[in-house]
Amino acid sequence: MNILVINCGSSSLKFQLIDMTTEAVQAKGLCERIGIDGSRIVYTPAGGEKMTIESPMPTHTEAIKLVLDCLTNAEYGVIKSLKEINAVGHRVVHGGEKFASSTIITDEVIKVIEECNELAPLHNPANLIGINVCRELMPGVPMVGVFDTAFHQTMPKKAYLYGLPIKAYTDYKIRRYGFHGTSHSFVSKRVAEFLGKPVEDLKTIVCHLGNGASICAVDGGKSVDTSMGFTPLAGLVMGTRSGDIDPAILEYYANKEGLTLSEVTTVLNKKSGMEGLTGGKSDFRDLEEGYEAGDQACIDAIEVFCYNVARFVGAYAASLNGVDVIAFTAGIGENSGFVRGKICEYLGYLGITIDAEQNSKRGEDIIISTPDSKVTVCVIPTNEELMIARDTKALVEAQ
Ligand code: ADP
Repeated sequence: MNILVINCGSSSLKFQLIDMTTEAVQAKGLCERIGIDGSRIVYTPAGGEKMTIESPMPTHTEAIKLVLDCLTNAEYGVIKSLKEINAVGHRVVHGGEKFASSTIITDEVIKVIEECNELAPLHNPANLIGINVCRELMPGVPMVGVFDTAFHQTMPKKAYLYGLPIKAYTDYKIRRYGFHGTSHSFVSKRVAEFLGKPVEDLKTIVCHLGNGASICAVDGGKSVDTSMGFTPLAGLVMGTRSGDIDPAILEYYANKEGLTLSEVTTVLNKKSGMEGLTGGKSDFRDLEEGYEAGDQACIDAIEVFCYNVARFVGAYAASLNGVDVIAFTAGIGENSGFVRGKICEYLGYLGITIDAEQNSKRGEDIIISTPDSKVTVCVIPTNEELMIARDTKALVEAQ
């Protein structure tokens, strides 16, 4: 069974074609600058050269047509015809309280996703465009929606309610939803498999540390708390996002800078975090270089980041009433032994000790704690596309 995974953003679209017999990626790529001058597709067939094709893509329809053309191209394609695509899995950012798991897409489901648009106005409408265009270009091919929020729907009320007038929740749906659910779900399952233990028996803290970063407390395979909130702005200090701040800062900063609330929110999303603290550096490779060179802003930013992660790990060890495994994933979590090491320095009270040599490895499933460490610390590369493809396969086969 071949599954096409689509992650459709407002001006970009990522895709992978996965052969589910082997779970091997047959081709992957990215359409950039959709609806903007200079649009192009970057396409890599398995075992082949990465290629870039410049082509006008005024709308997502042209982008998806181009993806399908690449996949079926006689020279560099990986399938002979569209008939070889058995199903399509779509990433959808927000499923609100409506979707606690992935679902086969029907007209009714599309209506419900539309109802969640106001909760993710930048993301959900783009995800829906991807779904609608694929339905148009591939009629009859089953499609599945996989939601970033779904995994966190198991959080108890005490974890998701904010201390606001209750109508904020009952009337306006304001609550903690959490994001990166597909990644947290994948990693918490993979950890159990990797350690050879039933997922039901494990208390795991997953640290998804990428440009966007979040932490999730997983008890027996279920999310019980997570650091992102009503939006992906909450929780950890991130690449360009502030994470949690005192809410009274909004009005104070707006007055000081002469900004509207909406402009302050843009500052919090795009000009804060590592970028804001250093005046322009959000990539951890640059930050680490600055740290080594003694750049004080980079040192401060990295210290803030690592301390914040450790603080959430401590909070979630309390939520879980103990912790068996801490798993690092995503760009920083998978690649930076330096950051992992600094975070774990705070966790000695949990009986954690780190094997420096193991911690210098990256990009593979590894245990970085010593055999006598009271908590197992590991690195588990995330794979959201594969998780989407697995959910899609399971739902389509069960139909
Ligand atoms: P997102 O999907 O949220 O855009 P990623 O999971 O791709 O983010 O992670 C991007 C982050 O990972 C960047 O800050 C980048 O610097 C960091 N990263 C990637 N490779 C390394 C590395 N070798 N060392 C340190 N940080 C790295």
